[in-house]
Amino acid sequence: MSIVEKLCRAAETDGTFKKVGLDWVGKCLICNGPIAFDSRTGEGATLEHILARGRGGTDDLTNLAVVHGRCNWEKGRRWDPKRKRSTEDYQAFVDRLLAKRKDRWRATSADGPDSGRTRSL
Ligand SMILES: [Zn+2]
Repeated sequence: MSIVEKLCRAAETDGTFKKVGLDWVGKCLICNGPIAFDSRTGEGATLEHILARGRGGTDDLTNLAVVHGRCNWEKGRRWDPKRKRSTEDYQAFVDRLLAKRKDRWRATSADGPDSGRTRSL
């Protein structure tokens, strides 16, 4: 999958996102602020690995989220190892984001037997 495809899949499986014309419009996982990106180019948003790949995070959709470029950058900076934040702090932060991602989860037709199930927002 390309980055753009991953962004689109992350938006499809996030209940805050809806397709508006060619754009996906929803909420940033980190700051909850409004965010939109072009479904053809991905322009307007950044693909976030909630648990960073360098820490063992995967490309699984549950670990991917749509975020602002600035939020992604600030998250990276905040958890820069040089700042000596503890692994426990990092893990707690990641756990919160993973829980939020799960809370927003929206099953799509490609996700198996549970497909078609809609949840109220
Ligand atoms: Zn944001």
